[in-house]
Amino acid sequence: MAQPVAATLAQIEFAPICTVYLRYAQPPRLPQPIYALHTQPDNGHFGPWVFDRRQTNPNCAGVLSVVISGAGAHQALTACGLAALVAQQMIATFGLPAPAGSAVIPEKRATIVPRRGLVHPPPRVSADGLNLAGDAGSPFPSTLEGSVRAGLAAAQALCAACGFTRV
Ligand SMILES: Cc1cc2nc3c(=O)[nH]c(=O)nc-3n(C[C@H](O)[C@H](O)[C@H](O)COP(=O)(O)OP(=O)(O)OC[C@H]3O[C@@H](n4cnc5c(N)ncnc54)[C@H](O)[C@@H]3O)c2cc1C
Repeated sequence: MAQPVAATLAQIEFAPICTVYLRYAQPPRLPQPIYALHTQPDNGHFGPWVFDRRQTNPNCAGVLSVVISGAGAHQALTACGLAALVAQQMIATFGLPAPAGSAVIPEKRATIVPRRGLVHPPPRVSADGLNLAGDAGSPFPSTLEGSVRAGLAAAQALCAACGFTRV
C-alpha cells in the first residue's frame, strides 16, 4: 500500500458500539419498535437505543437489542454485569420481567470518529488497481450508505481500469 495512504489510515480513530441482547421467556411487545432513552450512566442506565426485534422480524420475538454508542463507563463492566444493568433499565423503563438470557457484543472499532480535521484516504490507493471500499474509503461519516457508495465507486473504478462497461 502506498505509504501516504497507510499514514492517512493510521490517523483514523475508531469508536466502539456495544449491543446487549436480552431474550424474554414471554415475548414482550413494546408500544414502539425503536426507543431513544435518556442515558444515566451513574444509575446504570447505559442504553440509549432499544429495538424490539419482534417488530422487524417475527422470528426474533422475545428479543430486545439495546445499543450503546461510543466509549463510556459500561466498558469497564463484565458482559454479565452490563447485561444485568441493562435488564434493570428495561424493568425500570418498560416494566418488563427479568430476561431469561442475554448476550453482549462489544465492537471496539465500530465507527470512525468524525473529529475535526479528519482526512479520508483517496479511494484509489495505487496505480496497480487497489481501491478502498467501505467506511475508510467513504467521504461520509460511518454509515451503511457511505460504505455502500464507497464500495460501488471502488467497483466502478476497477471496471473502468479493466475496460469493462456497465450493461
Ligand atoms: C452496532 C453497530 C450499529 C450500527 N448502526 C448503524 C445504523 O443504524 N446506520 C448506519 O448507517 N450505520 C450503522 N453502523 C455503521 C455501519 O455498520 C458501518 O458504517 C458499515 O457497516 C461499514 O461498512 P464496511 O464495509 O466498511 O465494514 P463492515 O460492514 O464491517 O464489513 C467488513 C466485512 O469484512 C469482513 N472481514 C474483516 N476482515 C476480514 C478478513 N481478513 N478477511 C475476510 N473478510 C474480512 C467482516 O467480517 C465484514 O463482513 C453501525 C455499526 C455498528 C457496529
